[in-house]
Amino acid sequence: MIPAPLVVDVRRGALAELGGILADQRISPGGRVAIAVGATYGPTVRKLFADAIDGHGLAAADWFTVEGGTINTAVRLVEQVRLRRYDAIVGIGGGTVLDVTKFAAARLGLPMVAVATNLAHDGIASPISTLDNDAGRGSYGVPAPIAVLVDLDLIAQAPPRSIRSGIGEVVSNLSAIADWEAAHRQHGEEIDGLAVSLARTSAQAVMNHRGSIADDDFLVTLTEALVLSGLAMVVAGTSRPSSGACHEISHAIDLMMPSRRAHHGEQVGLGAAFAWWLRGDEQAFHATVDCLHRHGLPVRPADLGFNLVEFTEFVTFAPQTRPGRQTVLEDLALTIPQLTEQVHAFNDHAYARITNDGVIQ
Ligand SMILES: [Zn+2]
Repeated sequence: MIPAPLVVDVRRGALAELGGILADQRISPGGRVAIAVGATYGPTVRKLFADAIDGHGLAAADWFTVEGGTINTAVRLVEQVRLRRYDAIVGIGGGTVLDVTKFAAARLGLPMVAVATNLAHDGIASPISTLDNDAGRGSYGVPAPIAVLVDLDLIAQAPPRSIRSGIGEVVSNLSAIADWEAAHRQHGEEIDGLAVSLARTSAQAVMNHRGSIADDDFLVTLTEALVLSGLAMVVAGTSRPSSGACHEISHAIDLMMPSRRAHHGEQVGLGAAFAWWLRGDEQAFHATVDCLHRHGLPVRPADLGFNLVEFTEFVTFAPQTRPGRQTVLEDLALTIPQLTEQVHAFNDHAYARITNDGVIQ
């Protein structure tokens, strides 16, 4: 049995229907919900409901503002929400608000409804909450959202760079699956065929789509891919289908250079390209670089503002961010001089690929 979301609704104007959806699905017949919003987006979202509150069944809702994506923010939200009885907790916002709300919902034992205002990563439907803590940043296992709403009108207002980063997130699935399949073959790690199908199909749908984030059709495909990636993690019971060497490299950046972090999806996309390079899979390397480049995503360390020495430090440290997880980085166990050489070769070939002249500079 898979605890799948009751509702997945992706369209323009979805947010205005929130009250109706909560009532129809028996998530909250009377709209007695706690709604968490971010400090910047919150007022706009509240106004939408203030203008049309009658008939939407949200008159009984209480609003909470969350600031920052830390474990302390999540604990504070728990303390505020537990003072009254609610049917569910709704998070409306980008990744940070959803991560905080998911964690709070798990602590409170309430179903969580995710209303995504951004498509930057696969947390919109995943059973994982990523929060900053004293040790840097942690991933916490939580129940996945019971309903996922994506309002394309809100997505259209999100910064394009953050939406594009969601493409890197989905594309990295293929690299994560390659790591999982290798761990299965070489180390007998248990693998889940349904989780693999969901994660792989979503990545291929995005890679094969010729549109851009300016098209609704592409945005729907990207959203569905992010939702299915989250479901793949629910099925697998771990982040394995969407997180391998690509994510270890990103975690290393988060921990080693917190002040220079880029978007998660930008980091894992670059990490996936490097992992394909290490595997010596030229076709997958080219397909990944081509897709990232087509959407204006980083394909070389310099595109993220890192030099090759720094990037070599990230890939050297990466395996320590997820002890016990077997990926191409752990399998090859390259020395620092070998990694330095691979980082340079990767950088040259990625550059040659995007400049299309095939000449390595
Ligand atoms: Zn991710």
